[in-house]
Amino acid sequence: MFFSSNTQTATNRKATWARGVVPCDKCRAQNAVYRVEAVADEFSVRCSQCGHRGFYRKSEIGIQQLPERRLKKR
Ligand SMILES: [Zn+2]
Repeated sequence: MFFSSNTQTATNRKATWARGVVPCDKCRAQNAVYRVEAVADEFSVRCSQCGHRGFYRKSEIGIQQLPERRLKKR
């Protein structure tokens, strides 16, 4: 058996990427949270749409999966 080379890299492709999002209390816009693992247990996020500043807990972060090609906004 000479053909037992690398068989570990089966599904390491990043077809999608995940980001954390929190919904705004006022306008329900989804605001992205970068570095989800680096945030404190409680943190504040300013809404990019209406400017409302909301406080969230780490457990409130939703994970949004996006296709790789939709990195552009507009
Ligand atoms: Zn808002």
